[in-house]
Amino acid sequence: MSKREDLKVFITTRESRCDECGEELGRKAWIMLAGERGALCLSCADLDHLVFLPSGNAALTRRSRKHSTLSAIVLRWSRARKRYERQGILVEERAVQQAEEECLADEEVRARRREREAVRREELDREYVQRFADRVRELYPNCPPGVEKEIAKHACLKYSGRVGRSAAAKALDEEAVQLAVVAHIRHRETRYDQLLADGWERHEAREDVRHQVSAVLALWQGESP
Ligand SMILES: [Zn+2]
Repeated sequence: MSKREDLKVFITTRESRCDECGEELGRKAWIMLAGERGALCLSCADLDHLVFLPSGNAALTRRSRKHSTLSAIVLRWSRARKRYERQGILVEERAVQQAEEECLADEEVRARRREREAVRREELDREYVQRFADRVRELYPNCPPGVEKEIAKHACLKYSGRVGRSAAAKALDEEAVQLAVVAHIRHRETRYDQLLADGWERHEAREDVRHQVSAVLALWQGESP
């Protein structure tokens, strides 16, 4: 079976008259060109039971056409662009309804998928926090109870935006864990934040607390300071 060409309906730009029923259609009438029969109004063309679906929603248009036994493309001459431009389609109303239902169902499917992904994300984050906390505890056995979880949660916030397990795994490197622990010590165990609040430059403030940070780090590692 060869694919038949689409029926075309034109929105005219000048006064027109139906060549079959003789009705004056005025300007901007919707007509179908029917070869030797001339221009037909939609009633005479037997298209007046169809509804107009404007262009703009590709999925809705495609599905409406699929479900409609009869459909037509609606074109209008663009004076500016010197060509016919598609305005939408004429389709059966129940076809549009069916298409709308399908599009809604799709949205629902997508929403459920997003929900599942969010839950999965949360699971991954929980798992990651636990692994990071375990790693902190392993590298710094003397760190006060609970602190490893606090550090891990903070690290997880940073990792959360990144994608993939490689980024997560990399973040468990000894160096990365140490950076997280050092940052925690600086903020919680020294006067670093106070210095920043007092207007110190960051590198000056870091230099000021450097020895104190090293001492705490060594203590948590279980080495004699
Ligand atoms: Zn007519």
